[in-house]
Amino acid sequence: GTHNCDEVSKAQAAAEARQKYGNPEPTIFDKILDGSIPADIIHEDDQCIAFRDVSPQAPKHFLVIPRAPIPQLSRAQDDDSQLLGHLLTVARKTAVKEGLDNGYRVVINDGKDGSQSVYHLHIHVLGGRQMGWPPG
Ligand code: AMP
Repeated sequence: GTHNCDEVSKAQAAAEARQKYGNPEPTIFDKILDGSIPADIIHEDDQCIAFRDVSPQAPKHFLVIPRAPIPQLSRAQDDDSQLLGHLLTVARKTAVKEGLDNGYRVVINDGKDGSQSVYHLHIHVLGGRQMGWPPG
């Protein structure tokens, strides 16, 4: 098919971003990001989105994910510091919007020992009940 210059440069930027993180396999979160599968999106900006977890482990459970294809925290890079800070800022502000005034739990599962299941970086925010410690 035909592509205009804007589509070509977007595709090139996306390919470069994938290369930066070692060409991770696309995940179901890429489909949420591109709108090809639905999600209950509660925040959206140029760097990230937040949406409700499909299998909530607390009365409130949402995920904050970067648009950038970072597969896991351990593969983030030093020049991702601004983005990583932004994800926590969005977690904080979305927790307020969700009414989590009594506190909440923030979790990032990394890799096998962290029981990560989706290899697109995500911050879990869980609240609305008393959390236990230590986590399992
Ligand atoms: P993790 O085990 O940290 O990789 O967490 C992945 C999370 O993504 C789990 O809590 C899943 O319930 C959640 N999840 C998987 N697929 C979807 C989806 N399509 N929409 C919303 N949440 C999802």
